Amino acid sequence: MAESKRDYYEVLGVGRDADDAAIKKAYRALAKKYHPDMNPGDADAEKKFKEASEAYAVLSDPDKRRQYDQFGHAAFEGGAGGAGGFGGFDFNGADFSDIFGDIFGDLFGGGGRRGGRANNGPMKGSNIRKSIRITFEEAVFGCEKELDLVLKDPCSTCNGTGAKPGTSPETCPKCGGKGQVVYTSQSFFGTVQNVQTCPNCGGSGKVIKEKCTSCSGTGFTSSRKKIQVSIPAGIDNGQSVRIREKGEPGANGGPRGDLLVEVNVSRHPIFQRQDMHIFSTVPISFAQAALGGDVRVPTVDGDVIYTVKPGTKTDTKVRLKGKGVPSLRNAQVRGDHYVTLVIQTPEKLSAEAKEALRKFDLLAGNTLNQETSEDGKGKGKKKGFMDKMKEAFEE
Ligand SMILES: [Zn+2]
Ligand SMILES: [Zn+2]
Repeated sequence: MAESKRDYYEVLGVGRDADDAAIKKAYRALAKKYHPDMNPGDADAEKKFKEASEAYAVLSDPDKRRQYDQFGHAAFEGGAGGAGGFGGFDFNGADFSDIFGDIFGDLFGGGGRRGGRANNGPMKGSNIRKSIRITFEEAVFGCEKELDLVLKDPCSTCNGTGAKPGTSPETCPKCGGKGQVVYTSQSFFGTVQNVQTCPNCGGSGKVIKEKCTSCSGTGFTSSRKKIQVSIPAGIDNGQSVRIREKGEPGANGGPRGDLLVEVNVSRHPIFQRQDMHIFSTVPISFAQAALGGDVRVPTVDGDVIYTVKPGTKTDTKVRLKGKGVPSLRNAQVRGDHYVTLVIQTPEKLSAEAKEALRKFDLLAGNTLNQETSEDGKGKGKKKGFMDKMKEAFEE
């Protein structure tokens, strides 16, 4: 990055001691001013928008902010942040779409029909939110899914105007095309002006005399569409994938909203996940633990053979490097798989196996009364135990 970067606090125009609310407020104002949807084709605005977004992404995250305060831009260059650090900032990243959803949800969402705002200029359509369920493995390795949605499109008969072909929408006589009306009233404090969305045209500034019959004057038609959703490897439960311009159509030539697909990951019967790491438990026999031996360990890449060391204790943790979940930013980087080896106590044993175990206990010197170990239980053993106790006290 040869280009010198501006200080993030300077970009947002806040002091270094600004609190979260001040940072958010500053970013909101800049985002609104420079958002590409509000400045179509303006490269300078886009650059400023990205700069502000990057600054906000860092300063709104307590960990990143601490790193930035300590090391400056160097904190995010190269290293773990992926190629080029924040220089290659991924604005479609799952983390960022949350911030976007939060801020732009109320800037552009809901069709923008809010009182007091001039809204007959180009406006971005509303975002559509959907959720999708995928398996544990699909989340680890990524997958392609198809969503079946009913999407609105501008009506082809009237080109989205809502007016019968051959006619065109007329300027609203009530608001003169402004989309809002000003009510003036008198109060004790003087004249009060109240700006409201025009009730005659709903804020569009236009009225339709003769409605298009294809869309009943709405300007839109709805149809069922199949949308391909690419779920990136490493996505986690609750994260969203943003598909640009697959939301509701915009108004007055504005772009479509986005489709936000929230991913719900099903639980796996044996694997648990925490961030990029996978955890599982593998049972081993007492003999395997004592003598060592090969055990089959399931991983998301398939079974691997792990050689248990002789004398392994129960709850021993084993790390299978690189068998975890890929990083969302760089699929080449993977977490680890931690396996807990748990020694199983045998419950159903044949007579022969029981005998072998007794013999083992005898040889290992674990049996208190060797004479009575033939039947393995009963009075003999108890007596032997009491004898030993007596001996202990008599000494
Ligand atoms: Zn129409
Ligand atoms: Zn009007």
